[in-house]
Amino acid sequence: SKVTKDTVLKKAEELKVKFVKLQFTDVFGITKNVAIPVKQLEKALNNEIMFDGSSIEGFVRIEESDMYLKPDINTFTLIPWQSEYGNVARLICDVYNPDGTPFEGCPRNTLKKVIKEAENMGFTMNAGPEAEFYLFERDGEDLPTTHSKDHGGYFDLSPVDMGDEVRRAMVTALEGMGFEIEASHHEVGEGQHEIDFKYAPALTTADNIVTFKFVVRKIAMQYGLHATFMPKPLFGKAGSGMHTHQSLFFKGKNVNAFYDENGKYQLSKTALYYIGGLLAHARGYAAITNPLVNSYKRLVSGYEAPVYIAWSEKNRSPLVRIPARRGLGTRAELRCPDPACNPYLALAVMLKAGLDGIKKKIDPGEPVNMNIYHLTEKQKKDLNIKSLPSNLNEALDELEADEVIRSALGEHIYENYMKAKRIEYDEYRVQVHRWEIEKYLSIY
Ligand code: GLN
Ligand code: MG
Ligand code: MG
Ligand code: MG
Repeated sequence: SKVTKDTVLKKAEELKVKFVKLQFTDVFGITKNVAIPVKQLEKALNNEIMFDGSSIEGFVRIEESDMYLKPDINTFTLIPWQSEYGNVARLICDVYNPDGTPFEGCPRNTLKKVIKEAENMGFTMNAGPEAEFYLFERDGEDLPTTHSKDHGGYFDLSPVDMGDEVRRAMVTALEGMGFEIEASHHEVGEGQHEIDFKYAPALTTADNIVTFKFVVRKIAMQYGLHATFMPKPLFGKAGSGMHTHQSLFFKGKNVNAFYDENGKYQLSKTALYYIGGLLAHARGYAAITNPLVNSYKRLVSGYEAPVYIAWSEKNRSPLVRIPARRGLGTRAELRCPDPACNPYLALAVMLKAGLDGIKKKIDPGEPVNMNIYHLTEKQKKDLNIKSLPSNLNEALDELEADEVIRSALGEHIYENYMKAKRIEYDEYRVQVHRWEIEKYLSIY
């Protein structure tokens, strides 16, 4: 049945909702919300809720600060835990200018723009993420640590810590919000976990990732733990990635445009060019899919995280892997994104890269079915295998040079993002790190 303003109002009443969180995301993927009493819901659904945009980082200047929230009525859902104030629901919103035009600095609008572009080419993007995270203890002052009592490993089923139970509570809460959970398991690291939910059209998936992170953190807190999506919290241990499975369907049809029974590898030309685009723009979009100084400490060899820009239909060392499934499930898995990214921007740049591959018929080259980590420098050179950026600054330089990816972000977001990230890198650059003290202090 179709969702309308009236059905939302009715549902709010049935569910005895007292407050509604109007939620949106800033440029860095941090969720913001304005809570309104349910009496204001009708007003919100008429797009009449205003807020001061100048207090959100990367949004607008003080002189032009009135912004409007336009709720997406399809995102209305109950937040499935008790609040002392009664039931709370949430709506995810787009941000609009006072003149009624979509605000350029709203990442959700940005993704919608690229989705529109795909539709104009006859495609709908489906995406499914695999977000990994660590569960850590809190200290006596309730501050997060990097310790875990857990000694489990990949797919382990052991009652050595609370991880198992916490994960079940997370899955239950997510299901309560309409998620279809496909799998949840212990990851390689001690205290590291993964919960996978079903793929969906790109916009829904971006909304889901935001909700997912919020629920995971909240439930961890209820168990006195801290859930972190920081890409590499521990040196020498597995990092946390957010592999993103993606495919194009023909618009309005339940037919996967990546599958071709008679194609090479049973992949269509569309799929191969899309992969070509993902590879060609990888250095350009890394600053978005891997947004932190810390992100680049995950992208090193030895931890199942990608370093080299290549694709494979077999092994897991390259950037793009093609899982064995064909037919409706034909897809490319991009392995570089990490869960610290802004999912709206990350999906926007991945899709843009793939579409550019299709437009320009970018050949992805031959798949590399060897373990790339074991190739010599000479072999990599002969095969023309390049690396992902090795730090945030290099990634920002590459983003600066990639017109296609920049155009996906739009001027407003590009400028604000770039400015803030250059500062972030510089703050890091001037620090004296513990490694330097240990390495140099006594010798020099
Ligand atoms: N943690 C690995 C990464 O950083 C992925 C491990 C896996 O899911 N096989 O991408
Ligand atoms: Mg997985
Ligand atoms: Mg995993
Ligand atoms: Mg994977």
